[in-house]
Amino acid sequence: MNQKTLKKSVECSGIGLHSGRPVTMRIRPAPVNSGIVFRRTDLPDRKAVSALHANLVSAQYATSLGNGEVIIKTVEHLLSCLMGLEIDNALIELDSEEVPVFDGSANYYVQLLQSAGIQIQEARRKFIKVYRPIELYDKDRAISIKPYPRLRITYTIDFPHPLLKNQTKTIDISSESFITEIAPARTFCLYEEVENLRQQGLAKGGSLENAIVIGRDGIYNGSLRFEDECVRHKILDLLGDLTLLGTRILGHITVYKGGHLLHSRLVREILLQQNSWYYTSGNEKGSLDERKIV
Ligand SMILES: [Zn+2]
Repeated sequence: MNQKTLKKSVECSGIGLHSGRPVTMRIRPAPVNSGIVFRRTDLPDRKAVSALHANLVSAQYATSLGNGEVIIKTVEHLLSCLMGLEIDNALIELDSEEVPVFDGSANYYVQLLQSAGIQIQEARRKFIKVYRPIELYDKDRAISIKPYPRLRITYTIDFPHPLLKNQTKTIDISSESFITEIAPARTFCLYEEVENLRQQGLAKGGSLENAIVIGRDGIYNGSLRFEDECVRHKILDLLGDLTLLGTRILGHITVYKGGHLLHSRLVREILLQQNSWYYTSGNEKGSLDERKIV
């Protein structure tokens, strides 16, 4: 239950999904309690941008962080992998505005972070433990968190397409379940949305190499990695967005027809409703050894 960082720095290069721009990124070990921090090495202003809700600048189609002029886009898959592998502290340096997409899943990040090795640090990890439900609704969309001793997610998608109708998955998140069940799930879009995204200056780096493209008659990429790969990817995105709480969370999150905007609203609401949770350092049985009502 101690905090974790990497044993050594690792580097990777790729392109951004939305910008299409090449980027080289280095992920470095970081001291206890520093959290996940980004830094742009291509700008004269190298100020740090912590992965915190206070630094969220956009949750439209992707999650982007910023501090003044310093912007880091599409952070969710990398953040999800750090959450999934239980890495609390890391410094991420990149020489462009957008985190690389690789194959649209978190598989490459799993390999990269595992190749660095994981270092256990000399400080306890902190969790937010929810003891009172928090629920949000937005027309026919909904997101909630209820008390639960671990982190459990139940996610439902329901798009007007035969391959994406009413798909639900429930999973208890651990590094093992993340690596096997969630990390391989790729991002997806409907073919009919591609033109709309491009007109908004998005998905410029998007291709069949890094996204599942779903047409009226089926999948353009051939086959899926899981029958329910799309809802699994939504869980991947949610985990990345939950990182912006600044600490891990214990509870059962249920999402119906969600996306980055709804995820970020839940994060905001949790941070606001401080009478619905407390911090704990937890133990392996999920009971509490340090309780503080805030
Ligand atoms: Zn995604």
